[in-house]
Amino acid sequence: MRILLYRADGNTAPWADDFARHLPQATCVTWTEGQRQEPCDYAVVWAPPEAMLRELAEVKAIFLMGAGADAMLRDADQIPRSVPIVRLGDAGMGVQMAEYVVHAVLRYFRRFDQYEDQAAVGEWRQLPPRDKADFAVGVMGAGVLGQRVLDCLKPFGFPLHAWTRSDKHIDGVTCFHGSDGLEAFLRRTRVVVCMLPLTEDTANILNRANLGRLPQGAYVINVARGAHLSEPDLLTFVKSGHIAGATLDVFRHEPLPVQHPFWQEPRITITPHVAALTLRSESVQQIAGKIELLARGEPCADIVNRDLGY
Ligand code: NDP
Repeated sequence: MRILLYRADGNTAPWADDFARHLPQATCVTWTEGQRQEPCDYAVVWAPPEAMLRELAEVKAIFLMGAGADAMLRDADQIPRSVPIVRLGDAGMGVQMAEYVVHAVLRYFRRFDQYEDQAAVGEWRQLPPRDKADFAVGVMGAGVLGQRVLDCLKPFGFPLHAWTRSDKHIDGVTCFHGSDGLEAFLRRTRVVVCMLPLTEDTANILNRANLGRLPQGAYVINVARGAHLSEPDLLTFVKSGHIAGATLDVFRHEPLPVQHPFWQEPRITITPHVAALTLRSESVQQIAGKIELLARGEPCADIVNRDLGY
């Protein structure tokens, strides 16, 4: 069995070492532009260049080194539908997302952002505690990662909402779905957490109209993709005070350019796309298990639905 590896940073050697442990029968080869490889059975990639697509079209399955399939699907027309594209399902990212989002929600609920400002000018002043009933957390996208975040928020007692494409029942969570359910979800949500895949339907979903449906003093947490959020609209709402704060991990252009106005806005907290990093060892273990299933002719989880875009 031959596995074709590619990542834009070229650092495939540790992936090959991990595959040697989990799939000793496999030989890993690294894709290099201009060097035609012997045909491979499977490919394990992140952000493959266009020049690689011809080889990707010939494998039995393509495994992504991440949870989001949006970048791969942009070029997937050249890949036959018979070649499944398989994303990571959690693989250690769920707990990282939960840590990130729970931290951001608690920081706003307990007013740590305001206490940081006070501490910076040596001000000792107790602010009034908030009421949990007024602090509903709404997660857009309750899939593998969104559900994990909701589970981890449960013990704190915030009202919890979820918005999904299909109708869902999640214990302890008020569920909304589809475009008909979006307005009611947003109007009742104080902290909106975007955990959607980036698709034609979800691009730019945090736009002027939808941000305006959040209540006065709402918070925005985006850990999905930069293209979900209209950056100028968020800035307008933050400056007007309608949005009291935003914690953003993902941006239209990454790295976020130094001249971007978000850097100058104290109510916007920026992290460099680290909410949930790919953990190599867990990922290789998961991909190796899926390769074994497919090699035996059995189905595996997390195959991307190309019609839905996730
Ligand atoms: P899943 O595919 O498991 O879940 C996607 C969720 O979004 C589902 O609940 C789905 O609804 C919902 N959804 C999809 N389309 C729509 C729509 N049009 N309207 C409403 N809901 C919709 O994905 P994951 O949880 O694994 O990952 C989510 C995203 O997180 C990834 O696509 C990736 O972009 C991002 N990510 C970011 C990272 C970071 O470090 N910042 C790291 C890892 C992932 P339904 O349940 O009905 O299907």
